[in-house]
Amino acid sequence: MLPRDLKYLVVGAGLWGGVLAERIASALGERVLVIDRRTHIGGNCHSFVDPDTGIECHAYGTHVFHTAIPRVWEYVSRFTRFTPYRHKVLTEHRGRVYPLPVGLAAINMFYGLNLRPYEVSDFIRREAAASAGDPADLEEKAVSLIGRPLYEAFVKGYTQKQWGREPRELPADIISRLPVRADYNTDYFSDPWQGMPKQGYAAMFDRLFRHPLIEVRTGLAYADIAGDVPPACTIFYSAPLDELFGYALGPLEWRGLRFERDILPYRDAQGTAVLNQADAEIPWTRAHEFKHLHPERGPQGTRTVVAREYSHACQGGDDPYYPVNTPQNQSLQSKYRARLAAEMPNIVAGGRLGGYRYLDMDKTVDEALGVFETLRARKTGEDGAWA
Ligand SMILES: Cc1cc2nc3c(=O)[nH]c(=O)nc-3n(C[C@H](O)[C@H](O)[C@H](O)COP(=O)(O)OP(=O)(O)OC[C@H]3O[C@@H](n4cnc5c(N)ncnc54)[C@H](O)[C@@H]3O)c2cc1C
Repeated sequence: MLPRDLKYLVVGAGLWGGVLAERIASALGERVLVIDRRTHIGGNCHSFVDPDTGIECHAYGTHVFHTAIPRVWEYVSRFTRFTPYRHKVLTEHRGRVYPLPVGLAAINMFYGLNLRPYEVSDFIRREAAASAGDPADLEEKAVSLIGRPLYEAFVKGYTQKQWGREPRELPADIISRLPVRADYNTDYFSDPWQGMPKQGYAAMFDRLFRHPLIEVRTGLAYADIAGDVPPACTIFYSAPLDELFGYALGPLEWRGLRFERDILPYRDAQGTAVLNQADAEIPWTRAHEFKHLHPERGPQGTRTVVAREYSHACQGGDDPYYPVNTPQNQSLQSKYRARLAAEMPNIVAGGRLGGYRYLDMDKTVDEALGVFETLRARKTGEDGAWA
């Protein structure tokens, strides 16, 4: 049963829902109910401690916090301290391991050269020169940016596995650029603020949701309570947009992920937190070895936890992870958005599922803070579209 005077409902206890609930409770002093169909808070950022090894694992794949947005950094730092962790990603191709993003180290290893930084852009331009005209698909676009050999080694197989299609069947505009670095910097992110929550994501989310005016009910889906929500209640909805309409216009397409987690009898199994597999013949896209995300915690025992990540097309009932950004899906999304505005003015949809967009954590926080500002402005009588 829902309280008859419920004014604010948040659907989804992930980052987007958490920021809105926290702001409504702390800044407006209003009660808010949060529901989530999973049995835990934190959404896809959720972490847990593996009971056998004591190693903190990320349930839905490695999450590294990074941002260049000052208000986001200031906001999240209220709920956790961050370690100075800098993320590195390696990729394996034909039995050799290269650093990503593609830069001087990867190029020189791959071609057996000793290029200098000032030679890289001319070299890549010559490699890409064979392609001509407007790229018609992702393959042509990638080849025009980095040349065929690097494309075939580092992009082709990974893309086939990640999207379940040939790069020739994917639109060119899925990628706008493929950064090639002209130095030996192998930091995966270049944002000024990066790190891991010192005590883990679970502790960070506990603090975000810990407020006497916030009630959280897990194991509860929106459909279970939709008919019971008072008409005057404002709903902040971070669940799938098409689900809200019973898929009336058809389902939006998503990629799903499956993680196979193993405890291995090694102190260190792969030497890094994330190891991509670039070749199509290896069925997983990447493997996560979680203890490397917290070097400050020391060796953490003689065993390790590794999760291999497999990508697949979402079927009914699967968890959606990545929106498939094709023109058809974008057009369907716009139709659902138009129906939302016309038929459900008390529902604000956002976050990665409600917005049908891939959002990094910092963009998610920024979007939620923007939505909250609109809510506050509307309460003081100002007009404003939801951010
Ligand atoms: C594999 C992977 C790795 C990533 N790594 C990074 C990274 O390193 N750095 C980074 O910045 N970002 C990363 N991200 C992005 C990050 O996960 C998102 O920014 C963040 O999770 C978005 O938060 P959200 O609240 O919008 O969505 P979510 O975290 O998905 O939360 C939505 C919640 O809604 C709930 N829900 C769904 N349907 C219903 C329903 N019908 N009723 C009730 N509840 C429902 C879900 O159970 C979920 O808990 C990664 C994403 C993926 C997929």
